Amino acid sequence: MASDILKNHNSQMNCLHLYDSQTRKNKPVTPIEGDTLRFYCCGPTVYGPAHIGNFRTFVMQDVFRRVVESTGLKTRHVRNLTDVDDKTIRQSQAEGVSLGDFTTGWTEKFHKDSESLNLLPPHVEPSAVDHIPEQIEMIATLIEKGHAYRSDDGSVYFKVDSFEDYGKLSRLKEREITTNNVTQETEREDSDEYERESAADFVLWKSRKEEDGPNFWESPWGQGRPGWHLECSAMCKKHLGDSFDVHSGGEDLLFPHHENEIAQSECCNGAAFVNHWFHISHLMVDGAKMSKSLNNLYTIDQLEEMGHTAEEVRYVLLSGSYGQQLNFTLDSLKAAGKALERLRDFKEKLGAIPDGVATSLDDFGPFRPVIDALLNDLNTSDALGKLFSLIKQYQKEIPDLDNDTLNEARRGFAYCIFALGLKLDIPKTSKSNVPENVAQMAADRWEAKQNKDWAKSDELRDAIAAEGWQVKDTKEGYTVAPLA
Ligand code: AMP
Ligand code: ZN
Repeated sequence: MASDILKNHNSQMNCLHLYDSQTRKNKPVTPIEGDTLRFYCCGPTVYGPAHIGNFRTFVMQDVFRRVVESTGLKTRHVRNLTDVDDKTIRQSQAEGVSLGDFTTGWTEKFHKDSESLNLLPPHVEPSAVDHIPEQIEMIATLIEKGHAYRSDDGSVYFKVDSFEDYGKLSRLKEREITTNNVTQETEREDSDEYERESAADFVLWKSRKEEDGPNFWESPWGQGRPGWHLECSAMCKKHLGDSFDVHSGGEDLLFPHHENEIAQSECCNGAAFVNHWFHISHLMVDGAKMSKSLNNLYTIDQLEEMGHTAEEVRYVLLSGSYGQQLNFTLDSLKAAGKALERLRDFKEKLGAIPDGVATSLDDFGPFRPVIDALLNDLNTSDALGKLFSLIKQYQKEIPDLDNDTLNEARRGFAYCIFALGLKLDIPKTSKSNVPENVAQMAADRWEAKQNKDWAKSDELRDAIAAEGWQVKDTKEGYTVAPLA
């Protein structure tokens, strides 16, 4: 029987092995001390809805946590909220609302989207505004130790060439960009985000400017606010300690943000900052990074309005391994819908499956190959492949299985579904109240358009109109609305 073959699967790993961007090697993920893995993620900037590119990063971090917990370890997961930076201040000022009201609204939206994507809430979600004293304290230490200086306008900068290891994460030296050509007068950076391939002294404290409005705090260097990079160093220190296990973010954060975090933390604390760096490759659209500035983004709301579900989005974001960029298409959502249906079907055939997380890898039973794929550098695409081939083999056998074997399969399957963060609930009717047959015709029309089958696409447009609905193409895809 196939189940016997599956039982004999020989697995080798008993913990997650993950690529570390600093050493550029796969390393076991184990706590530096104790049995709790301390894990920090750079969180969202709460100045608008997060797009599904942001969520690729958060979904992969969520799978990371689920897989680590499936091996029997505990985690302490900290993910911050960036609620004071150039963008949140600029946007709240433009809308004439207080920074607090503005960021609270977008934080709530972020939580709602996270819940619909089935992200486990972090154990701590600290905000930058709530950690101003901690940031001031770090700056004071850095000045005292000679790693930071106050400029004429009252801003404080980190002195990059005071830290010999500056660039060790992004290997600046290999890129022949050294800190030696940095001079305090010419190479100084005070915007929160910059992408230059150079090492510049970066801002720790930004002196008060008129455009900041009421958003400033008192400090020993005058009124102002902290620079963006500093908040993560301060929150890591407070909530995880001077040294901790894993730090994560999208690949765009590797330089300069994470390089600057290392510099601030190691110079302030005199201890190695992070043991393992976990960077997630970007979600792309037509070869470009999905981002607000390129205006090529999709949000969960937009996709739900088009008749898709958040679980389909999660499935698509999982379908490629985190180490490679993933190109997003609407067709991939359709394929995800079909894949989820097959999983739901299998779940139904198995009968009741238990809830919750595995306590040991043995709990995966015949589904062990799926978790093994995840333990191997979080290879989600291989894990999904293994899951479907197991289902295919098992499907036929279910009626002949004895109770114990069936229960083993139920448990193994349930733990895989947990590790991937899927729910397999019956999808709720679409938010847009578009009838199912109309939503299907709209999706088919979109597919016909992609295939340049204009006759079919026109035919479907007419059929949709006959039902009292109209479909409109947009930059991002299409919308369906009642006929005016
Ligand atoms: P932000 O809200 O801009 O601070 O970004 C939140 C997280 O999303 C960070 O970890 C970014 O690196 C990540 N991110 C931004 N754009 C993308 C993208 N297109 N694909 C994957 N991750 C992204
Ligand atoms: Zn950060």
